[in-house]
Amino acid sequence: GQCISVCPTGALTEVNNIPLVWDALSQNEKTVVVQVAPAVRVAIGEEFGLEPGDISTGKMVAALRSIGFKHVFDTNFAADLTILEEASEFLHRLKENHNLPILTSCCPAWINFVENNYPQLLNLPSSCKSPQEMFGAIAKNYFGPNVMNVDPKDMYVVSVMPCVAKKYECSRSELGQGEVLDVDVAITTRELAKMIKESGIDLLNLEEECFDSPLGESTGSADIFGATGGVLEAALRTAYEWVTNKELTDVNFTQVRGLEGIKEASIDVDGTIVNVCAVSSLGNARKVMDDVAKGNSKYHIIEIMACPGGCVAGGGQPYHHGDYDVVKKRAKGLYNIDSSKKLRKSHENPSIITLYDTFLGKPYGDSAHKYLHTHYFDKSCVYEKNNSKCSSPKEADAT
Ligand code: SF4
Repeated sequence: GQCISVCPTGALTEVNNIPLVWDALSQNEKTVVVQVAPAVRVAIGEEFGLEPGDISTGKMVAALRSIGFKHVFDTNFAADLTILEEASEFLHRLKENHNLPILTSCCPAWINFVENNYPQLLNLPSSCKSPQEMFGAIAKNYFGPNVMNVDPKDMYVVSVMPCVAKKYECSRSELGQGEVLDVDVAITTRELAKMIKESGIDLLNLEEECFDSPLGESTGSADIFGATGGVLEAALRTAYEWVTNKELTDVNFTQVRGLEGIKEASIDVDGTIVNVCAVSSLGNARKVMDDVAKGNSKYHIIEIMACPGGCVAGGGQPYHHGDYDVVKKRAKGLYNIDSSKKLRKSHENPSIITLYDTFLGKPYGDSAHKYLHTHYFDKSCVYEKNNSKCSSPKEADAT
Protein backbone atom coordinates (compact mmCIF):
# COMPACT_ATOMS: atom_id res chain seq x y z
CA GLY A 1 0.00 0.00 0.00
CA GLN A 2 0.82 3.65 0.22
CA CYS A 3 2.84 3.15 3.37
CA ILE A 4 5.75 1.51 1.57
CA SER A 5 6.95 4.68 -0.06
CA VAL A 6 7.19 6.55 3.21
CA CYS A 7 8.18 3.86 5.65
CA PRO A 8 11.17 1.75 4.73
CA THR A 9 10.80 -0.97 7.34
CA GLY A 10 7.95 -2.61 9.10
CA ALA A 11 5.17 -1.16 7.01
CA LEU A 12 4.10 -4.50 5.63
CA THR A 13 4.01 -6.15 9.02
CA GLU A 14 2.33 -3.33 10.89
CA VAL A 15 0.58 -4.76 13.90
CA ASN A 16 -2.36 -3.18 15.65
CA ASN A 17 -1.14 -2.36 19.16
CA ILE A 18 -4.29 -0.61 20.38
CA PRO A 19 -5.59 -3.70 22.28
CA LEU A 20 -2.31 -3.92 24.22
CA VAL A 21 -2.69 -0.32 25.37
CA TRP A 22 -6.33 -0.76 26.48
CA ASP A 23 -5.30 -3.91 28.32
CA ALA A 24 -2.45 -2.14 30.16
CA LEU A 25 -4.76 0.73 31.11
CA SER A 26 -7.19 -1.74 32.67
CA GLN A 27 -4.58 -3.23 35.02
CA ASN A 28 -4.63 -1.42 38.35
CA GLU A 29 -1.25 -2.75 39.48
CA LYS A 30 0.52 -1.11 36.54
CA THR A 31 1.64 2.51 36.47
CA VAL A 32 0.99 3.34 32.83
CA VAL A 33 2.78 6.38 31.40
CA VAL A 34 2.71 7.73 27.89
CA GLN A 35 5.21 9.74 25.84
CA VAL A 36 4.51 11.55 22.58
CA ALA A 37 7.11 12.16 19.86
CA PRO A 38 7.57 15.71 18.50
CA ALA A 39 6.15 15.03 15.01
CA VAL A 40 2.80 13.76 16.35
CA ARG A 41 1.59 17.14 17.66
CA VAL A 42 1.71 18.82 14.25
CA ALA A 43 -0.11 16.02 12.39
CA ILE A 44 -2.69 14.31 14.60
CA GLY A 45 -5.10 17.23 14.10
CA GLU A 46 -5.42 16.23 10.43
CA GLU A 47 -7.42 13.16 11.54
CA PHE A 48 -9.92 15.59 13.09
CA GLY A 49 -10.13 18.13 10.27
CA LEU A 50 -7.31 20.50 11.23
CA GLU A 51 -4.68 21.68 8.76
CA PRO A 52 -1.27 19.99 8.52
CA GLY A 53 1.13 21.83 10.82
CA ASP A 54 -1.60 23.07 13.18
CA ILE A 55 -0.28 22.56 16.69
CA SER A 56 -2.52 20.34 18.81
CA THR A 57 -0.21 19.67 21.76
CA GLY A 58 -2.54 20.89 24.52
CA LYS A 59 -5.66 19.14 23.22
CA MET A 60 -3.71 15.93 22.61
CA VAL A 61 -2.43 15.97 26.20
CA ALA A 62 -5.99 16.46 27.46
CA ALA A 63 -7.19 13.55 25.30
CA LEU A 64 -4.45 11.25 26.64
CA ARG A 65 -5.46 12.06 30.23
CA SER A 66 -9.05 11.46 29.40
CA ILE A 67 -8.15 8.06 27.88
CA GLY A 68 -6.71 7.11 31.28
CA PHE A 69 -2.95 7.62 31.30
CA LYS A 70 -1.75 8.50 34.79
CA HIS A 71 1.24 10.47 33.58
CA VAL A 72 1.34 12.21 30.24
CA PHE A 73 4.95 12.91 29.32
CA ASP A 74 6.87 14.14 26.33
CA THR A 75 9.48 12.37 24.17
CA ASN A 76 10.82 15.91 23.74
CA PHE A 77 12.26 15.67 27.25
CA ALA A 78 14.31 12.69 26.09
CA ALA A 79 15.22 14.45 22.85
CA ASP A 80 16.94 17.13 24.93
CA LEU A 81 18.63 14.37 26.90
CA THR A 82 19.79 12.75 23.64
CA ILE A 83 21.44 16.01 22.62
CA LEU A 84 23.45 16.24 25.84
CA GLU A 85 24.69 12.69 25.36
CA GLU A 86 25.28 12.92 21.62
CA ALA A 87 27.02 16.29 21.74
CA SER A 88 29.29 14.95 24.52
CA GLU A 89 30.04 11.84 22.50
CA PHE A 90 30.79 13.90 19.39
CA LEU A 91 33.16 16.26 21.23
CA HIS A 92 34.89 13.25 22.75
CA ARG A 93 35.43 11.68 19.31
CA LEU A 94 36.46 15.01 17.77
CA LYS A 95 39.11 15.52 20.43
CA GLU A 96 40.57 12.07 19.82
CA ASN A 97 40.02 12.34 16.04
CA HIS A 98 38.51 8.88 16.28
CA ASN A 99 35.33 7.22 14.91
CA LEU A 100 34.36 10.16 12.70
CA PRO A 101 31.97 11.01 11.20
CA ILE A 102 29.53 10.39 14.02
CA LEU A 103 26.22 9.16 12.59
CA THR A 104 22.96 9.90 14.39
CA SER A 105 21.08 6.95 15.87
CA CYS A 106 17.51 8.20 16.47
CA CYS A 107 15.93 6.43 13.51
CA PRO A 108 15.50 2.66 13.92
CA ALA A 109 14.92 2.06 10.20
CA TRP A 110 18.26 3.70 9.46
CA ILE A 111 19.98 1.73 12.24
CA ASN A 112 18.57 -1.49 10.82
CA PHE A 113 19.86 -0.42 7.39
CA VAL A 114 23.39 0.28 8.59
CA GLU A 115 23.49 -3.01 10.53
CA ASN A 116 22.54 -4.87 7.37
CA ASN A 117 24.52 -2.94 4.79
CA TYR A 118 27.63 -1.42 6.41
CA PRO A 119 28.68 -3.87 9.14
CA GLN A 120 32.27 -2.66 8.79
CA LEU A 121 31.18 0.83 9.91
CA LEU A 122 29.30 0.02 13.11
CA ASN A 123 31.87 2.02 15.08
CA LEU A 124 30.36 5.19 13.57
CA PRO A 125 26.71 5.42 14.67
CA SER A 126 26.38 7.27 17.96
CA SER A 127 25.92 4.80 20.80
CA CYS A 128 23.04 6.96 22.07
CA LYS A 129 19.70 5.22 22.31
CA SER A 130 16.91 7.02 20.47
CA PRO A 131 14.76 9.51 22.41
CA GLN A 132 11.90 6.97 22.62
CA GLU A 133 14.24 4.50 24.36
CA MET A 134 15.98 7.08 26.56
CA PHE A 135 12.56 8.19 27.72
CA GLY A 136 11.62 4.61 28.68
CA ALA A 137 14.91 4.07 30.51
CA ILE A 138 14.45 7.24 32.57
CA ALA A 139 10.74 6.65 33.21
CA LYS A 140 11.39 3.14 34.53
CA ASN A 141 14.70 3.56 36.31
CA TYR A 142 14.46 7.12 37.62
CA PHE A 143 10.87 8.35 37.67
CA GLY A 144 9.38 5.02 38.86
CA PRO A 145 11.70 4.14 41.75
CA ASN A 146 12.93 7.63 42.71
CA VAL A 147 9.85 9.79 42.28
CA MET A 148 6.84 7.44 42.49
CA ASN A 149 8.22 4.60 44.60
CA VAL A 150 7.21 2.15 41.88
CA ASP A 151 9.37 -0.78 40.83
CA PRO A 152 10.50 -0.64 37.17
CA LYS A 153 8.72 -3.91 36.44
CA ASP A 154 5.40 -2.39 37.54
CA MET A 155 5.79 0.51 35.15
CA TYR A 156 4.31 0.29 31.67
CA VAL A 157 5.58 2.74 29.05
CA VAL A 158 3.51 3.50 25.96
CA SER A 159 4.96 5.59 23.10
CA VAL A 160 2.98 7.51 20.52
CA MET A 161 5.22 7.69 17.46
CA PRO A 162 4.97 8.97 13.87
CA CYS A 163 6.70 5.78 12.91
CA VAL A 164 6.09 2.11 12.25
CA ALA A 165 9.74 1.10 12.79
CA LYS A 166 9.51 2.32 16.41
CA LYS A 167 7.33 -0.73 17.14
CA TYR A 168 10.21 -2.95 16.13
CA GLU A 169 12.76 -0.78 17.98
CA CYS A 170 11.09 -1.19 21.36
CA SER A 171 11.19 -4.97 20.99
CA ARG A 172 15.01 -5.04 20.60
CA SER A 173 16.04 -7.04 23.66
CA GLU A 174 19.23 -5.06 24.39
CA LEU A 175 17.17 -1.88 24.93
CA GLY A 176 16.36 -2.33 28.62
CA GLN A 177 17.79 -3.44 31.94
CA GLY A 178 17.77 -7.23 32.05
CA GLU A 179 14.26 -8.52 31.41
CA VAL A 180 12.65 -5.11 31.76
CA LEU A 181 12.50 -3.42 28.36
CA ASP A 182 12.68 0.38 28.31
CA VAL A 183 9.46 0.75 26.31
CA ASP A 184 6.56 -1.71 26.40
CA VAL A 185 4.60 -0.71 23.35
CA ALA A 186 4.58 1.88 20.58
CA ILE A 187 1.48 3.03 18.74
CA THR A 188 1.35 5.31 15.73
CA THR A 189 -0.20 8.76 15.38
CA ARG A 190 -3.01 7.12 13.39
CA GLU A 191 -3.60 4.57 16.17
CA LEU A 192 -3.82 7.32 18.80
CA ALA A 193 -6.36 9.16 16.63
CA LYS A 194 -8.36 5.93 16.46
CA MET A 195 -8.24 5.48 20.24
CA ILE A 196 -9.44 9.06 20.76
CA LYS A 197 -12.34 8.39 18.39
CA GLU A 198 -13.12 5.00 19.98
CA SER A 199 -13.35 6.77 23.35
CA GLY A 200 -15.84 9.26 22.02
CA ILE A 201 -13.55 12.17 22.86
CA ASP A 202 -14.22 15.40 20.97
CA LEU A 203 -10.59 16.45 20.49
CA LEU A 204 -11.27 19.84 18.93
CA ASN A 205 -13.41 20.98 21.85
CA LEU A 206 -11.09 19.94 24.68
CA GLU A 207 -9.47 22.54 26.92
CA GLU A 208 -5.72 22.57 26.38
CA GLU A 209 -3.64 20.94 29.09
CA CYS A 210 0.11 20.74 29.82
CA PHE A 211 2.43 17.76 30.00
CA ASP A 212 3.25 16.42 33.46
CA SER A 213 6.48 17.27 35.18
CA PRO A 214 9.40 16.48 35.22
CA LEU A 215 9.51 14.32 32.07
CA GLY A 216 7.35 16.78 30.18
CA GLU A 217 9.63 19.76 30.01
CA SER A 218 11.58 20.54 26.82
CA THR A 219 13.38 23.20 24.80
CA GLY A 220 12.86 24.21 21.17
CA SER A 221 15.75 21.96 20.15
CA ALA A 222 13.63 18.93 20.99
CA ASP A 223 10.69 19.96 18.82
CA ILE A 224 12.75 20.14 15.66
CA PHE A 225 13.83 16.48 16.00
CA GLY A 226 10.73 15.71 13.96
CA ALA A 227 12.06 17.39 10.80
CA THR A 228 15.07 16.34 8.72
CA GLY A 229 18.12 18.30 9.89
CA GLY A 230 16.61 19.01 13.29
CA VAL A 231 18.73 16.65 15.36
CA LEU A 232 21.84 18.04 13.74
CA GLU A 233 20.76 21.64 14.39
CA ALA A 234 19.95 20.86 18.01
CA ALA A 235 23.32 19.14 18.51
CA LEU A 236 25.15 22.12 16.98
CA ARG A 237 23.43 24.56 19.34
CA THR A 238 24.78 22.66 22.34
CA ALA A 239 28.18 21.61 20.97
CA TYR A 240 28.91 25.21 19.90
CA GLU A 241 28.33 26.62 23.36
CA TRP A 242 30.23 23.83 25.08
CA VAL A 243 33.30 24.24 22.86
CA THR A 244 33.43 28.02 22.74
CA ASN A 245 32.05 28.90 26.18
CA LYS A 246 30.27 31.71 24.34
CA GLU A 247 26.59 32.34 23.91
CA LEU A 248 25.23 31.28 20.54
CA THR A 249 23.07 34.30 19.75
CA ASP A 250 21.55 33.07 16.50
CA VAL A 251 20.46 29.48 17.09
CA ASN A 252 18.95 29.03 13.62
CA PHE A 253 21.10 26.80 11.42
CA THR A 254 18.87 27.35 8.40
CA GLN A 255 21.36 25.65 6.03
CA VAL A 256 20.22 22.27 7.33
CA ARG A 257 16.49 22.98 7.15
CA GLY A 258 14.12 22.08 4.33
CA LEU A 259 13.09 19.01 2.40
CA GLU A 260 16.16 18.51 0.23
CA GLY A 261 17.46 14.93 0.61
CA ILE A 262 21.10 15.84 1.26
CA LYS A 263 21.96 19.17 2.93
CA GLU A 264 25.40 20.20 4.04
CA ALA A 265 27.03 23.04 5.94
CA SER A 266 30.42 24.03 7.33
CA ILE A 267 30.25 25.59 10.76
CA ASP A 268 33.06 27.64 12.25
CA VAL A 269 33.35 26.65 15.90
CA ASP A 270 36.02 28.99 17.27
CA GLY A 271 38.38 28.35 14.37
CA THR A 272 37.60 24.64 13.98
CA ILE A 273 35.54 23.97 10.87
CA VAL A 274 32.92 21.31 11.49
CA ASN A 275 31.44 19.83 8.30
CA VAL A 276 27.94 18.50 8.75
CA CYS A 277 25.38 16.79 6.59
CA ALA A 278 21.68 15.95 7.02
CA VAL A 279 20.32 13.13 4.91
CA SER A 280 16.81 11.80 4.49
CA SER A 281 15.71 8.64 2.64
CA LEU A 282 17.71 5.43 2.60
CA GLY A 283 18.65 5.93 -1.07
CA ASN A 284 20.41 9.16 -0.11
CA ALA A 285 21.88 7.44 2.94
CA ARG A 286 23.48 4.86 0.65
CA LYS A 287 25.06 7.62 -1.48
CA VAL A 288 26.58 9.34 1.51
CA MET A 289 27.60 6.10 3.24
CA ASP A 290 29.35 4.72 0.16
CA ASP A 291 31.66 7.75 0.35
CA VAL A 292 32.19 7.19 4.06
CA ALA A 293 33.05 3.52 3.37
CA LYS A 294 35.61 4.57 0.75
CA GLY A 295 37.18 7.08 3.13
CA ASN A 296 36.08 9.97 0.89
CA SER A 297 33.78 11.79 3.27
CA LYS A 298 34.65 15.21 4.62
CA TYR A 299 31.91 15.24 7.24
CA HIS A 300 32.27 15.22 11.01
CA ILE A 301 28.57 14.71 11.78
CA ILE A 302 25.94 13.07 9.59
CA GLU A 303 22.27 12.95 10.52
CA ILE A 304 20.33 10.22 8.76
CA MET A 305 16.55 9.73 8.75
CA ALA A 306 14.94 6.99 6.68
CA CYS A 307 11.77 8.87 5.75
CA PRO A 308 12.10 11.59 3.08
CA GLY A 309 11.56 14.79 5.09
CA GLY A 310 12.13 13.12 8.45
CA CYS A 311 9.63 11.93 11.06
CA VAL A 312 6.96 14.48 10.13
CA ALA A 313 6.54 12.28 7.05
CA GLY A 314 6.75 9.01 9.00
CA GLY A 315 4.83 5.89 8.07
CA GLY A 316 2.66 6.13 11.21
CA GLN A 317 1.41 9.65 10.50
CA PRO A 318 -1.89 10.52 8.83
CA TYR A 319 -1.34 9.66 5.14
CA HIS A 320 0.10 12.52 3.15
CA HIS A 321 -0.47 10.72 -0.16
CA GLY A 322 2.83 11.94 -1.57
CA ASP A 323 1.86 15.59 -1.09
CA TYR A 324 5.05 17.16 0.20
CA ASP A 325 3.26 20.45 0.92
CA VAL A 326 1.66 18.58 3.80
CA VAL A 327 5.10 17.50 5.01
CA LYS A 328 6.45 21.05 4.68
CA LYS A 329 3.57 22.46 6.71
CA ARG A 330 4.11 19.94 9.50
CA ALA A 331 7.82 20.81 9.63
CA LYS A 332 6.94 24.49 9.70
CA GLY A 333 4.68 23.80 12.69
CA LEU A 334 7.68 22.35 14.54
CA TYR A 335 9.97 25.29 13.70
CA ASN A 336 7.20 27.62 14.90
CA ILE A 337 7.05 25.81 18.24
CA ASP A 338 10.85 26.04 18.48
CA SER A 339 10.98 29.77 17.80
CA SER A 340 8.15 30.47 20.24
CA LYS A 341 9.96 28.85 23.16
CA LYS A 342 12.04 30.79 25.63
CA LEU A 343 14.56 27.99 25.99
CA ARG A 344 15.89 26.70 22.67
CA LYS A 345 19.06 24.86 23.67
CA SER A 346 18.82 21.37 25.17
CA HIS A 347 21.47 21.96 27.82
CA GLU A 348 19.31 24.76 29.29
CA ASN A 349 16.38 22.44 30.08
CA PRO A 350 16.07 22.75 33.89
CA SER A 351 14.58 19.26 34.32
CA ILE A 352 17.48 17.75 32.39
CA ILE A 353 19.97 19.65 34.57
CA THR A 354 18.22 18.27 37.67
CA LEU A 355 18.22 14.75 36.23
CA TYR A 356 22.01 14.86 35.86
CA ASP A 357 22.50 16.47 39.28
CA THR A 358 20.36 13.95 41.13
CA PHE A 359 20.61 10.73 39.14
CA LEU A 360 22.84 10.49 36.09
CA GLY A 361 25.98 12.36 37.11
CA LYS A 362 27.88 13.65 34.09
CA PRO A 363 26.77 13.48 30.45
CA TYR A 364 28.48 10.48 28.82
CA GLY A 365 29.50 9.20 32.28
CA ASP A 366 28.97 5.73 33.79
CA SER A 367 25.27 5.98 34.68
CA ALA A 368 24.53 7.64 31.38
CA HIS A 369 26.20 4.71 29.63
CA LYS A 370 24.24 2.20 31.65
CA TYR A 371 20.84 3.69 30.88
CA LEU A 372 21.16 5.79 27.75
CA HIS A 373 23.64 4.07 25.43
CA THR A 374 23.49 0.89 23.38
CA HIS A 375 25.44 -1.16 20.84
CA TYR A 376 24.81 -2.52 17.36
CA PHE A 377 24.86 -5.86 15.59
CA ASP A 378 26.33 -7.06 12.33
CA LYS A 379 23.23 -8.36 10.58
CA SER A 380 24.71 -8.61 7.11
CA CYS A 381 25.12 -12.35 7.16
CA VAL A 382 21.64 -13.17 8.45
CA TYR A 383 20.72 -13.06 4.79
CA GLU A 384 23.45 -15.44 3.66
CA LYS A 385 21.11 -18.38 3.92
CA ASN A 386 23.69 -21.09 3.25
CA ASN A 387 26.20 -19.88 5.77
CA SER A 388 25.51 -21.94 8.88
CA LYS A 389 28.11 -20.08 10.96
CA CYS A 390 26.19 -16.98 10.36
CA SER A 391 22.60 -17.50 11.38
CA SER A 392 22.26 -14.96 14.15
CA PRO A 393 23.36 -11.35 14.38
CA LYS A 394 26.83 -10.78 15.78
CA GLU A 395 27.47 -8.03 18.27
CA ALA A 396 29.68 -5.38 16.69
CA ASP A 397 33.01 -4.60 18.38
CA ALA A 398 32.52 -2.04 21.08
CA THR A 399 34.36 1.21 20.45
FE1 SF4 B 1 10.60 6.44 11.96
FE2 SF4 B 1 11.37 8.98 11.82
FE3 SF4 B 1 12.98 7.02 10.98
FE4 SF4 B 1 10.80 7.59 9.59
S1 SF4 B 1 12.56 8.97 9.91
S2 SF4 B 1 11.51 5.54 10.12
S3 SF4 B 1 9.38 8.17 11.23
S4 SF4 B 1 12.29 7.39 13.09
